[in-house]
Amino acid sequence: MSAKLIDGRAMGAAIRAQLSTRIARSSRSVRLDAVLVGNHQAAEIYAQNQAKTCREVGLEYHLHTLSATAGFGEIAGRIRSMNTEESVRAMMVHLPLPEGVDTERIQALIDPEKDVEGVNPVNIGNVVYGRRSLVPCTALAVLEMIEHTGIALCGARCVIVGASNIVGKPIAVLLMREEATVVSANRYTRDLPSITREADVVVAAAGVAGLVTREWIRPGAIVVDVGINRARGADGKTMTVGDVDPSVREVAGWMSPVPGGVGPLTVAMLLRNVVDAALA
Ligand code: NAD
Repeated sequence: MSAKLIDGRAMGAAIRAQLSTRIARSSRSVRLDAVLVGNHQAAEIYAQNQAKTCREVGLEYHLHTLSATAGFGEIAGRIRSMNTEESVRAMMVHLPLPEGVDTERIQALIDPEKDVEGVNPVNIGNVVYGRRSLVPCTALAVLEMIEHTGIALCGARCVIVGASNIVGKPIAVLLMREEATVVSANRYTRDLPSITREADVVVAAAGVAGLVTREWIRPGAIVVDVGINRARGADGKTMTVGDVDPSVREVAGWMSPVPGGVGPLTVAMLLRNVVDAALA
C-alpha cells in the first residue's frame, strides 16, 4: 500500500487563486500590516517572502520596522496605534522579539479583529467556544488537510503528537469542535505508539525528526506531518524533514509530505485570514 498524497502546495495554490478573485472583486484595498523588530535574519527573510506572496495574490503589504533596541513600551505603543488606525485591518508581529520582551503580552495587545495569526488569547478562547474568530493558521491548515481526505470527523479517533500553545493545542481544539475523539500527546505520554496505532488520524507536531514510524500507524490511517526539522541526508547535505518517517507511506492511507505539505498551506491560511479580516 502506498499512501495518497495530501498535497499542501496544490491546496495552497487553489486557495491563493480563490483569494485573488475575492480581492479583485472587492472595491476595498486589502492589506497586511506586519511588525518586524530588530534584524533577526530568519525573520527578515520570512518578511521578504511574505511581501512577495502578498503581492502575488494582490494584497498590499506594509512592514513596520522597529530597531533591535525597541523595548516592550515602544513595541506595545506601535501595536496600540495600529489597533486604532482605521486603514490597518489585518496585522501580525514577526517573531522572535528582542530578548526580555514578553511575546505573549505583546500578542495579547493585538486587536482580536485584526489578529490574523490568531495569537491573542481572545481568539484562542473563541476557538474553544466555537465562536467566529481568526484561528491560528497552522491549525487551520491541518484541519483543511484532514477534511480534504473526505473522512467523517465526527466520532473519528485523532491523536495529536505535540501539545504546544501555537500548534498542537489549537489543532486538538479544532478537531474537538468537529466532535472527533481527540487524544493530545506530549513528550511524557507513555507508550505512545500503542495509542497512535488505534487512531484514524495522526497529526505529528513534536519537532522530532522521523519520530513517527510505520509501527505507529494503523493501515489506512491519515497522517499529517507538521514538523519542520533540519537533518543531514545520505549525501551529507542538510535538508528539511518532518516528524514522520518516510516508511509510514507504506501503511498510511493518506499522508502529507515535508516539504510541500502543511508549510505552504499554512501560508495560504494566513492570507485567507488577512482577506477575511480586511473584508469583514
Ligand atoms: P514545541 O517545541 O513548542 O512543542 C513540541 C511539543 O511536542 C510539546 O508538547 C512536547 O511535549 C511534544 N513532544 C516533544 N517530543 C516528543 C516526543 N518524543 N513524543 C511526543 N511528544 C513530544 O514545538 P511547536 O512550536 O509546537 O512546533 C512543533 C513542530 O512543528 C516543529 O518542528 C516546528 O518547526 C513545526 N511547525 C510547523 C509549522 C508549519 O507551518 N508547518 C508551524 C509551526 C511549527
